[in-house]
Amino acid sequence: MSALPLSLPAPGEQALAPFACHPSQSRGRLHPEIPAPTRSEFQRDRDRIVHSTAFRRLVYKTQVFLNHEGDLFRTRMTHSLEVAQLGRSVARSLGLNEDLVEAIALAHDLGHTPFGHAGQDALDECVRAQEGPDADAGFEHNLQSLRVVDELEERYPRYNGLNLSFETREGILKHCSAANARKLEQREPGGVGQRFLERTQPSLEAQLCNLADEIAYNAHDIDDGVRSGLITLAQLQAVPLFERFRQQTLAEFPALAEPGAGRRLLYEAIRRMLSQQVYDVIDATRAALAHSAPSSVDEVRHLPPLLGFSPAMRAESTQLKQFLFKNLYRHPSVMETTGRARQVVRELFDIYLARPAEMRERFARRSDVPRAVADFIAGMTDRFALREHERLTGQRLLS
Ligand code: MG
Repeated sequence: MSALPLSLPAPGEQALAPFACHPSQSRGRLHPEIPAPTRSEFQRDRDRIVHSTAFRRLVYKTQVFLNHEGDLFRTRMTHSLEVAQLGRSVARSLGLNEDLVEAIALAHDLGHTPFGHAGQDALDECVRAQEGPDADAGFEHNLQSLRVVDELEERYPRYNGLNLSFETREGILKHCSAANARKLEQREPGGVGQRFLERTQPSLEAQLCNLADEIAYNAHDIDDGVRSGLITLAQLQAVPLFERFRQQTLAEFPALAEPGAGRRLLYEAIRRMLSQQVYDVIDATRAALAHSAPSSVDEVRHLPPLLGFSPAMRAESTQLKQFLFKNLYRHPSVMETTGRARQVVRELFDIYLARPAEMRERFARRSDVPRAVADFIAGMTDRFALREHERLTGQRLLS
């Protein structure tokens, strides 16, 4: 018998392709730490994210439908779990680092405001009005996710934030304006802002989370959209990517067309669509990797994006996105609630700006008042924002 413990790979190094992120080659943390004996650096990041306050708040944050509109709609939490599931299954097939993918996926939406995109747009307008057109370039939820893990979480005695690895932070910051990238570069030269100035790519794990996000929300927004009654299966016939699998399912299971068959037809069509998209990403990415044969993650960063759909699937996914935009996200009844959600955010912003002492103490004592107000509001759950708004205005705008 060989000396088994000595032949075991280091934590998190199992079956990784050369172009994957290897924890032993991590670019490290802003505050150096002693490695953990049983977990890789990315497993540690994932665990820190799961135990964070911002992660628990995702349960009560809107994805598309406001949190209180129904118990079965996706929230930011269930969305993030679905992104992690899709991401991990693709990562395993490509020899990428599953732990890193999971860490990025679970953290990717931590910076989202209450009330989904309506909240973010309203907060962005408020911050811009205070700070001028280019001062801090408004409010970006991706940058806010990074602020949450870098600065806003208060859990460790020696530093602010969660002190995550470079690779996890790189994946969290999936978009960034040039103005914000320059600011990041000043604070952390050669850090996570650099690629937006040099126009290079992030790791394949980060590229994967970006695409898994899109695959997840396209699929679950069909489900939630139909559940809410705002879109119908009949309308979805105009979306070839979905319709193909609906027809395929019906050909195999004609009884699913009968009244009383419930939602099994919808679920089966979505399931087949998801599988097809996952296989497509794996095939197209394998072909791109075979062509350019990167031998390290640093080579990946200097190549064009390698992880993605085939051109045909890219076109179909975009078509589905456009359908959802027009028929679900811009549906009059969604627009009405998002209009009120914007009002809640705007009024909260104005009140805290005038009376910072109304905020929690750690925000109230900051001298960068508009940014402190934005951080405080961005961290709120939907229902906390509504309660605060009611406390401060006496009005209940959404119930
Ligand atoms: Mg997302």
